[in-house]
Amino acid sequence: MKKAVCLVSGGLDSTVTTYIAKKNNYDLFPLSFLYGQQHEKELQSARTIGSLLTEEEHIFFTLPLHQFGGSILYKSEKPQIKSTPLDKIGTLIPPTYVPARNTVFLSIALSYAESLDAGAIYIGVTATDYSGYPDCRPEYIEAFQTMADLATKKGVEQKQIKIETPLLYLTKKQIIIKGVELNVPFELTWSCYQGRTKACGLCDSCQLRLKGFQEAGIRDPIEYETTPDFYKIK
Ligand SMILES: [Zn+2]
Repeated sequence: MKKAVCLVSGGLDSTVTTYIAKKNNYDLFPLSFLYGQQHEKELQSARTIGSLLTEEEHIFFTLPLHQFGGSILYKSEKPQIKSTPLDKIGTLIPPTYVPARNTVFLSIALSYAESLDAGAIYIGVTATDYSGYPDCRPEYIEAFQTMADLATKKGVEQKQIKIETPLLYLTKKQIIIKGVELNVPFELTWSCYQGRTKACGLCDSCQLRLKGFQEAGIRDPIEYETTPDFYKIK
């Protein structure tokens, strides 16, 4: 069976991506990162999602990026996550950006994939309805693919490790509809930047998620402390 490394964060996008990889008949090797994020709630979700889809070991890779600072997502920072007006999300690179995160993650995934002799790495980046992170753009993924082809023995031998980004051009609404088709357990996913009992409903990630559910006409099954005015599905 062909193998794929899947970057699993516990969020909605990475979960739908992992279900797509499963549907594409890959044997999945889930990979998650402890990079100094403020809370581990998303990692609990990641663990559950991984266990539903594969018997293979789920690697939790520790990379203390918070030692460098530079993002309000780090546990070393005081929680200061603010709510951005929905129409402004994605227009500027927000303080939740983690310096070069996808390059670091994809590099680790590339090493893991080559060691496994895997043919693909699945990552749930999207350039539509996104937070404005530069390392989610199509040209970034294309450049990383070129680098991966040059950097690996498999690449030199013409056995490409393909960076698979099935959500790249989908809106959040389309991602949710795709997830429904694949029976994705949205109730097990965690997107909120904060790690409280319920999702906050106000951070950029919660707002983008709720906008997607609103547009899809589907109720988000997770619980929220509050929901923005645009979300009318009760
Ligand atoms: Zn939130």
